Amino acid sequence: MNRSEVEGRVSAAAVATTALLFAACASNPADRSNLDATLWVQTSAEYDAVARSVYFAAARDLPLLLADSSLTAALEQQGSYENLPAAVILDVDETALDNSPYQARLLASGEAYSSETWAQWVEEGIAEAVPGAVEFARRADRLGVTVFYVTNRRSPQEAATRVNLMDVGFPLSDDQDVLLMRGEKPEWTGAKGSRRELVSRTHRVLMLIGDDLNDFVDADGLSVAERDSLARLHSAYWGERWRMLPNPTYGSWERALFGSDFGLDRAERTEMKETHLEPRGEIND
Ligand SMILES: [Mg+2]
Repeated sequence: MNRSEVEGRVSAAAVATTALLFAACASNPADRSNLDATLWVQTSAEYDAVARSVYFAAARDLPLLLADSSLTAALEQQGSYENLPAAVILDVDETALDNSPYQARLLASGEAYSSETWAQWVEEGIAEAVPGAVEFARRADRLGVTVFYVTNRRSPQEAATRVNLMDVGFPLSDDQDVLLMRGEKPEWTGAKGSRRELVSRTHRVLMLIGDDLNDFVDADGLSVAERDSLARLHSAYWGERWRMLPNPTYGSWERALFGSDFGLDRAERTEMKETHLEPRGEIND
């Protein structure tokens, strides 16, 4: 075989390999389903306005909740709490800190979420604050209301999370542990109720702020209909003691659409999600 024949065979092999790669990509293209949601959070004036509105109203109403000692925001609060010092509980991700740059990283690289790339992002500690969140937390702090942060970031991530929160201006009390991580204590599971209960032993909880139903009431594993019922059951809390931030990029709302069945592949999840669409009538061409 002369040189040109070798080059011809190599070139044919390269073409075949490229064709195979294209076929593989065509059958399994990078997941772009989070593109619009991520861009909405990162670029829209609307997201910024909604987040600021939520926090502005929360700060405005905090003195009213502080003045009425009969009120508690925590369903877990038991016994006599009227004379306890006051606290608010904030979730961290997409409530205090904006991780949309991590979502953008995934989209830019074509990679799916993984705990490894997430841990890398957390350790970098460069998340910015959700609009309005720092101003609210500082207002609470000035009013003598302790700000607790209840997060499902894991306990080894506490130091990096603390530095990130402080860097962007959140108050963190020196007197007690106010950053309560998942797994920091054996009973601190992903369900946040046990941590809300712990805060409510020493403080009257004025307000819960989160971006997921689980930041208010344990709801994991529930169906779409069950989540809806649970949220409506507590309708008196919304907009008063409970304040919800929008998060279109991920959350238990999204898991509920495929029954939280992580054994399903992406196509199967999408198929299940589509069964939840509610069209009325049809488009007539
Ligand atoms: Mg969150």
